[in-house]
Amino acid sequence: MPAVVIDGKAISQKIREDVQRRTTILKEKSITPCLAVILAGEDPASISYVTAKEKALTEAGMTGRNIHLPADTAETKLLNLIAELNKDTSVHGILVQLPLPRHINEDKVITAIDPAKDVDGFHPVSVGNMVLGRPGFLPCTPHGVLVLLREIKHPLSGAHAVVVGRSNIVGKPLANLLTRRDVNATVTVCHTGTKDLVRHTLEADILIAAAGKPALITPEMVKPGAAVIDVGVNRVPDSSAKNGYRLCGDVENAVAEKAGYITPVPGGVGPMTIAMLMQNVVQAAEESKV
Ligand code: NAP
Repeated sequence: MPAVVIDGKAISQKIREDVQRRTTILKEKSITPCLAVILAGEDPASISYVTAKEKALTEAGMTGRNIHLPADTAETKLLNLIAELNKDTSVHGILVQLPLPRHINEDKVITAIDPAKDVDGFHPVSVGNMVLGRPGFLPCTPHGVLVLLREIKHPLSGAHAVVVGRSNIVGKPLANLLTRRDVNATVTVCHTGTKDLVRHTLEADILIAAAGKPALITPEMVKPGAAVIDVGVNRVPDSSAKNGYRLCGDVENAVAEKAGYITPVPGGVGPMTIAMLMQNVVQAAEESKV
């Protein structure tokens, strides 16, 4: 039987409706949640991500402060801008779209954001809080994956989750969240240094692909009935497409014949990432008034 396709759009819509409701309550108290989105340069993928975030903010009734800087912006200028936004009480969240132009040190920029406004959850304080299980902002994509898994009621406690990818924004935090006591999965993290990737993926009750490599996960690598979460977003050339490319994940389509659950790309993890970001912004605004 083919896999159940997990509808990330529908699940994210429920979260966004809740965000809208919380935003309305804040607005009645004259607080409009506001996210400052900083984009440096003209990377087409980054521009499309920023546009999607602005659209979601508007739909939720929140305000987006869109700051588009040229690619050659000096690092100090960006740091000064963040310092101003940190002080600005009408701004509740600050998001710097990554990747930044090469001459700018990403670590410095992320660390400059006030942790109370770190709605991406990338600041070392947010990461520390997450690892310690303390309250704070969770990174949006890993949090979105966890919400998806909970929503389909896939057994998590005692499950073996295999995460392919160990980046700071997806693989590492996801592995951490999955081992939380209230999730209780056993986690294997794979990367380019992993020997015999297939041996690991075949053991997965939950297989999460976050490598950024089209068709990395083939049916032969998947345990029958596993939940397969495809985080990858890759642009592959497609002459039949209007813009010359199409989006695909890290998982081959044929995996749907073997898996129990699967997320589509687009329409799986992507919408969840945006919904979790909106949730973090409204949370930042709620916490700002106390
Ligand atoms: P990244 O920083 O490039 O990290 C990729 C990770 O995958 C690295 O840890 C790398 O290992 C590992 N990897 C690459 N090729 C591999 C292979 N053949 N076998 C095993 N491991 C391999 O990427 P990222 O930022 O985590 O993003 C991953 C993907 O998710 C990208 O396609 C990105 O566009 C997508 N993404 C989607 C969303 C969303 O909302 N849907 C959000 C964020 C990212 P090493 O550490 O050894 O190099």
